[in-house]
Amino acid sequence: MENQKNAQGMMEFLHESTTAYHAVMAIKKRLIANRFCEVSEQQDLHTLVPGNYFITRQDTAIIAFTKPNNNNKSDGLRIVGTHTDSPALKLKANPDLKSTPYWQVGVEIYGGIILSSWFDRELSLAGKVSLLNQQGELQSVLIDLKKSIAQIPSVAIHLQRDVNENRTINKQKEMPPILGLTASSESSLLKVVKNHIEKHYQIAVEKILGHDLFFYSNEKPALIGIEEEFLTASRLDNLISCWVGVQALIEHTQKQQDGIGSYPCVLACYDHEEVGSSSAVGAEGNFLKSIIERVWGGGEESYKLLDKSLLISVDNAQAAHPNYLENYDPQHLPIINGGPAIKINAGQRYSTSAETTALFTHWSTKAKARTQTFVSRSDKACGSTIGPITTTLLGVAAIDVGIPSLAMHSIREFVGVRDVIDLKQILTIFFEEKNVRISSPTISLDVAYNPSSSTTT
Ligand code: ZN
Repeated sequence: MENQKNAQGMMEFLHESTTAYHAVMAIKKRLIANRFCEVSEQQDLHTLVPGNYFITRQDTAIIAFTKPNNNNKSDGLRIVGTHTDSPALKLKANPDLKSTPYWQVGVEIYGGIILSSWFDRELSLAGKVSLLNQQGELQSVLIDLKKSIAQIPSVAIHLQRDVNENRTINKQKEMPPILGLTASSESSLLKVVKNHIEKHYQIAVEKILGHDLFFYSNEKPALIGIEEEFLTASRLDNLISCWVGVQALIEHTQKQQDGIGSYPCVLACYDHEEVGSSSAVGAEGNFLKSIIERVWGGGEESYKLLDKSLLISVDNAQAAHPNYLENYDPQHLPIINGGPAIKINAGQRYSTSAETTALFTHWSTKAKARTQTFVSRSDKACGSTIGPITTTLLGVAAIDVGIPSLAMHSIREFVGVRDVIDLKQILTIFFEEKNVRISSPTISLDVAYNPSSSTTT
């Protein structure tokens, strides 16, 4: 019962956020409803009065921030970073396939998908469409067909007897979804999209000129387990972290007398993490850096500010899978609902350090939440996140943490509700902290070199 109450908000957010575009829209909606004001990159951001703000770039990345009354550089920034994109099947530019007896469409593979999980699912389509209207104007709209329009059926076991032993999937040949029976020259998915736009937005569409459209599973998020302690849904990586970040920021401001708080807080939700982060809206772009410099001052000012700041990079962690325990280091087995995982990697695939581990653990104790650690097996490759990229770009101290999850990059992923709530509590504490760094170790005075004397004392 308690889980159901807590999980309602998460499930609504996940259900709305069918693409990165819709995730940004869902985040905006929640920020606006909680006294955050939208600003644009066209404004003079250094003149903003104290308050709570957010800014989007190209509709798939969003940065929310609080600017307190006393803007003291020595307070640093409390930054939470996540990503809005998830692995998916992207509709190809010229989608309709005319050479098959069915009406099918071609798809590109976005990110590292578990392809087998996309078979036998009810699929819908959502994303952004840019068009020319009948008044001769260019405009863009977000669409979500919401109904199941397609499926990728498996081939019967009778025709591939070794499917449970040896299965390979050809991305070009085996992934086109089936939409209908008629593969005539008239069949056009973009015509369906055009009709949808005309009906939904009352726009007379002359022609669709561009589209970023993705198939998604039309199955709703659900609580499962004997005590409904698990949450199963699509795109938990990394929308559940976006939800946690937004809720923590909103709850933090709500707790403050002035509705802003004493220290500057930032939530950065990037796109394109699943394909390497190199874009204007990815973590490797200049979005966050430029906003920090424009709001709080560039050059000397921003170096002083960032030296006092901390980034918590939040992205789902690998939970130990009971049927495949041989894949994990036996001393580092994050369990679902055992607390958020701190991710550590000597090769800097994660940005975590001794200092940042101590800080996060300390705040977890304050939040009455447990934490776990994840270190990959030494003989296995390790994943990565926006953490190392952002810390490299900004020169800011950082930590990588995440909600332990199973079935990562499947069309249906799996996390624990309690871990989500715990991480939200920890981030709320983080946003309230005066000091988000630990000062460097000092050298003992009895061995220190004294330049005014010829000998060490
Ligand atoms: Zn991720």
